[in-house]
Amino acid sequence: MTLRNHSLIKRINRGRIMNAIRIGSPVARSQIAARVQLDRKSITNFINELIAEGLVMESGKVGNIAGRPYSMLKFADNFAAGIHIAPHLCCGVLIDFYGNIIAAHEVEYPLYTDLATICRAVENLYRQLNSVHPPNLGVGLSMPGSLDLKSGVMEEAVNIPGLAGVEVRKTFSACVNEPLFLEEESRSIALAEKWFGKGRSYADFVAVEVSAGVGMGIIVGRRLFKGAGQYAGEVGHVVIEPNGPPCRCGNRGCLETYVSEPAVVRELSRFTKSGFARLCYFPADSVDPADYNRIMNDTGYRLGQGLAAVVNILCPRTIILTGDVINLFGAAILPAVREGITRNSVKGNARQTELVVSELAHVDALGAATLPLADIFEVPGYFYV
Ligand SMILES: [Zn+2]
Repeated sequence: MTLRNHSLIKRINRGRIMNAIRIGSPVARSQIAARVQLDRKSITNFINELIAEGLVMESGKVGNIAGRPYSMLKFADNFAAGIHIAPHLCCGVLIDFYGNIIAAHEVEYPLYTDLATICRAVENLYRQLNSVHPPNLGVGLSMPGSLDLKSGVMEEAVNIPGLAGVEVRKTFSACVNEPLFLEEESRSIALAEKWFGKGRSYADFVAVEVSAGVGMGIIVGRRLFKGAGQYAGEVGHVVIEPNGPPCRCGNRGCLETYVSEPAVVRELSRFTKSGFARLCYFPADSVDPADYNRIMNDTGYRLGQGLAAVVNILCPRTIILTGDVINLFGAAILPAVREGITRNSVKGNARQTELVVSELAHVDALGAATLPLADIFEVPGYFYV
């Protein structure tokens, strides 16, 4: 065995032990040994190392049947921050190793604001989180757009023009005092679901966000699938009506032009007396129930049409829905989403795929906060939690 392989195996075993503590905490050394199938001596060495590094701590003693006490282990207090940049606000969370949200804050700004305002908001959020506990594990940052993770440059940002062409990694590293990790918004949401949400127990699933845009994060074998060009998951630009309305991508009739927040606002506004800019300001009692139900059914069915393409190609075990449109209208549109999927996909596939709604709060920021955790728990290409 080469030295390199030896250190790789060590990293994988460390990740597996950390994950055993994450799942079973508080947990005894013997329980960890049984879960990761390593001998007691190796476990003791690994645990001593993790304790010395301040990652793990003893959490009291428990008596066994013979009455001899043995000590339990849990994670020591370490924190990661996640900050999500949305078109109208920044949201930040501080979490511990278990994903408990210790603090959450938001800073609002006008839609389509400039880069300087966004930077001030990120700095402000970081200060607020840092005053609770310094995020010593690092800071994850998520945002919508075509983000090149290799160069750290935002190639295209239709919903946040202030970020277009910006060297995101360089710019925002200057706003925080900890290592910075980057990810695109929809993929970040899929990571939040994988670590802490409804994707916890599935090897393969997709998370679809329906808000200002429509995006998807794909998890295959517990790892994020990025495709050849890093931008896999653009379900919002699946064409469902070739002669439909123009889309910001240059095509016509993309899914996004029918089901995104601006599209639903536009439809509902046709039936209200006073205009409203965002769905959260929708005056529900000003629309005739028949018109409202028709719009909800159409929106749901269109979303189902787009998701049918996903079901046909990937046949995911679960589709987890999230985003402003789902949070506000989920119950009203879900039956039509199911119908749209069933009617437009292969029956055998549709039967295998369940449709659920995310239950996570601050899901985008939470997903960003998993990035520093992944740096500790996971070994890219070899081990994923
Ligand atoms: Zn499009």
